[in-house]
Amino acid sequence: MGSQYDITCPECGYRQRLHLGVGMAYTSIEAVIDLVPHALREPVLQAIQQNPAGVGDFRHALYCCSDCQRRAGRFYFQVTDAGGRVIEPEYHCSRCRCTLTREAEADAPDLDDAPQDWPCPECGHQGLHSALTVLWD
Ligand SMILES: [Zn+2]
Ligand SMILES: [Zn+2]
Repeated sequence: MGSQYDITCPECGYRQRLHLGVGMAYTSIEAVIDLVPHALREPVLQAIQQNPAGVGDFRHALYCCSDCQRRAGRFYFQVTDAGGRVIEPEYHCSRCRCTLTREAEADAPDLDDAPQDWPCPECGHQGLHSALTVLWD
């Protein structure tokens, strides 16, 4: 079961929606291969075929732009191929194009109904509010 969070800024009205976690259909990476960035699909499928034990974690994870502090929920996965090379996606901020860093926490790092300690990407106000709005499958 995945979670949808709505992040809002009480100062400027900034809103953002985050989808995190996994849905019911996420039984394997192959089942949700459409979520893997296009250029990585072939290498990922090949790696899984050659090294089934190399499939690691996969879920919509929380990413953060170190530049503008914008958060995003993106599909994270980790697959190790037969030669030991680790394949992971790399995402960029939709606003400033910087590389997004994955937050170390698990799927839902205390996002429910709590003021967050990161600044609003629009106005810089500290204390964005986040609320769990929907459980999606
Ligand atoms: Zn950014
Ligand atoms: Zn704001």
